[in-house]
Amino acid sequence: MLTHNLGYPRIGGNRELKKACENYWSGKITSEELLAIGKELRLKNWKLQQESGIDLIPSNDFSFYDQVLDLSLTVGAVPDRYREIIESKSNSELDHYFAMARGYQKDGFDITAMEMTKWFDTNYHYIVPEFYKNQSFTLKSLKAVNEFVEAKEFGITSKPVLIAPVSYLLLGKEKEEGFHRIELLEKLLPVYLELIGKLVNEGAEWIQFDEPFLALDINETEKNAIAKTYDGIRAEFPHIKILVATYFDGLKDNLSLAVSLPVCALHVDVVRYPEQLQDVLTAIPENLSLSLGVIDGRNIWKNDYKNSLSIIDKAVKVIGKDRILIAPSCSLLHVPCDLENETNEAFLTTEIKTWLSFAKQKLTEVVTLRQLANSENITVAAVALQRNIEDNAKRKKSALIHDDNVKDRVSAITDDTARRKNNFTIRKAFQEQELNLPLYPTTTIGSFPQTTEVRSWRAKVKKDELTKSQYEALLKKETEDTIRFQEEVGLDVLVHGEFERNDMVEYFGEQLDGFVFTQNGWVQSYGSRCVKPPVIFGDVSRPEPMTVFWTKYAQSITDKPVKGMLTGPVTILQWSFVRDDQPRSQTCLQIALAIRDEVADLENAGIKIIQIDEPAIREGLPLRKDEWPQYLDWSIKAFRVSSSVVEDATQIHTHMCYSEFNDIIQDIADMDADVITIECSRSQMELLDAFANFKYPNDIGPGVYDIHSPRVPTKSEMVDLLSKADTLIPSSQLWVNPDCGLKTRHWDETKKALKQMVGAAKAMREKKTAEV
Ligand code: GLN
Ligand code: ZN
Repeated sequence: MLTHNLGYPRIGGNRELKKACENYWSGKITSEELLAIGKELRLKNWKLQQESGIDLIPSNDFSFYDQVLDLSLTVGAVPDRYREIIESKSNSELDHYFAMARGYQKDGFDITAMEMTKWFDTNYHYIVPEFYKNQSFTLKSLKAVNEFVEAKEFGITSKPVLIAPVSYLLLGKEKEEGFHRIELLEKLLPVYLELIGKLVNEGAEWIQFDEPFLALDINETEKNAIAKTYDGIRAEFPHIKILVATYFDGLKDNLSLAVSLPVCALHVDVVRYPEQLQDVLTAIPENLSLSLGVIDGRNIWKNDYKNSLSIIDKAVKVIGKDRILIAPSCSLLHVPCDLENETNEAFLTTEIKTWLSFAKQKLTEVVTLRQLANSENITVAAVALQRNIEDNAKRKKSALIHDDNVKDRVSAITDDTARRKNNFTIRKAFQEQELNLPLYPTTTIGSFPQTTEVRSWRAKVKKDELTKSQYEALLKKETEDTIRFQEEVGLDVLVHGEFERNDMVEYFGEQLDGFVFTQNGWVQSYGSRCVKPPVIFGDVSRPEPMTVFWTKYAQSITDKPVKGMLTGPVTILQWSFVRDDQPRSQTCLQIALAIRDEVADLENAGIKIIQIDEPAIREGLPLRKDEWPQYLDWSIKAFRVSSSVVEDATQIHTHMCYSEFNDIIQDIADMDADVITIECSRSQMELLDAFANFKYPNDIGPGVYDIHSPRVPTKSEMVDLLSKADTLIPSSQLWVNPDCGLKTRHWDETKKALKQMVGAAKAMREKKTAEV
């Protein structure tokens, strides 16, 4: 029984790589210094894995920015627009690499970055490969070989990790018409063969091919391409041991393909999809080993050894110990580095800490499970098992986790809890009477510029350099200025500006019971950007109002309606580490009830419009389509539970910032928000088609101002966008607003842009009056 790891976080326990990259970009360190820091991190991670007792240690899992971009460079899939800087010898290979990741705007160049998108259903973002019809591939970078050699010099025969050719192609995008990227396999495969040859020459024994698409919905062509890939590799290299890694979902209908591949080992994720174990064991042929991903690589909870051992034992009974490998479910890239870095009781109490396990701790879990399953090192392993049983038992019973009131409230949810009193038509009449808004009402999405100054106040209260009341006074002033600006510019529905919030999830998590925050639990989101997701460990409830103070304050200083601003239950869930001891749907409903309480309090405080942001509903969609209905069922319900407490005259808004609605438009309609604001300006209103074709019944605010750019849009271009919207959606349903919040923008451009936007709405109203 071997142990192995699929990948280790490269960012460093103190975000060393983040800091080094940023220092390099700002010219504070040289490329040699950056390369040295990279090497140091690799050696440190290898050493750690070696000391933990992992048998097969990954290499080529390191990256200065992103492993998919590394691969694009490896196979020479470099878009033409970078040729010029690559040919101009003035900068280094590293600069070309970062130019692809981040764009290049200096020395007279202005080259855009490659697109970035989410890595499956994680919060990691990769650089999307760009493919052209006449795409050619050549082995351009020997990173994988160099890192293998580096590990070898360090005394480790590592297991290089490569994204498999078909998964790599599927991760990319065609940049011109007339072909499908899967057709490029024939040209791509020889480059992989060349690379494998070099690894084999250097002494590689195992190679890990990540084939995550084997756990997704793929068509026959894609299945055939996968089969062809491994046949091709096997024909050329009969002796190399290949491990095919799947993760994030089950093999399901791809099982027979997966077990028929001519490889040595197949890795399956039995955390995410334990149901597949029996089928895999039934189907697996004699010459194939099975890697059991039993340790959760996506979450931070301590493993349940008893449960994992029962999985391993089950497999041992069918295929024997020798053909089993034990591993985390996926790369550990998605969890923070080291729980030992959490030393502050004010963040994580000792009790909660005993429930958790970060990357380093997960390595130990893998090794301990092997020892237990293999009866090695018995005395030590038995003690570890006993402790694990005790810790998990304590967690199960902890008073910190369980709140019967919350559980009772969730079980008492009925259809009525999740339904407004009357339908939209009736509500709309009440709301019109209450709010008396003009045609094409104008509003914003919530946040106003979070200047360095505003952020510095927060930092100062934390360091006790500002008292609470000083901080409050500063925020009041900022809020008041923002209200005055909105009045002056003529917006119809105002917001308070969200100056008191660091982040739209953290702000709520900090005030809810059942959440904790780590001090150092950083996870790479993209490039040098890291996030520190909140940890939902227990039943969620809201001890006190969270937003009423600031919303009420803002409303008290203006006669215009101020919109209360909340983050929705699905988004809070989606952007946190979620407890694994109950279904996500349960946790989501608990959060929904907490938000519902806040909605009720806002309404009682005289707030007439409340927005519940759900930018993460779409990204929460399961990877496999057959799992969509169940997810949509509970997630939409959770939103409705959070929003349905109000009277008909109170207007509920929701906001989403992405642009694909076609396949979930019915569910969006089922949310039954009175107004939905969406990102639209970059797609030039194209996405409104989904709403128009569907005859979306409620009000819509298609974004007319792209807030991702400092550019100030002109009134006439916004009038054009609105006129386009007007042909698709009845005017009585249309709102006028930016694409998203303005927190990343500067004040001067924000002011100018909103002035133009209000002007555009007025022009639309005049046009309408002239028509009548
Ligand atoms: N209300 C939030 C804001 O304006 C919404 C952010 C988001 O959609 N991501 O910042
Ligand atoms: Zn948004």
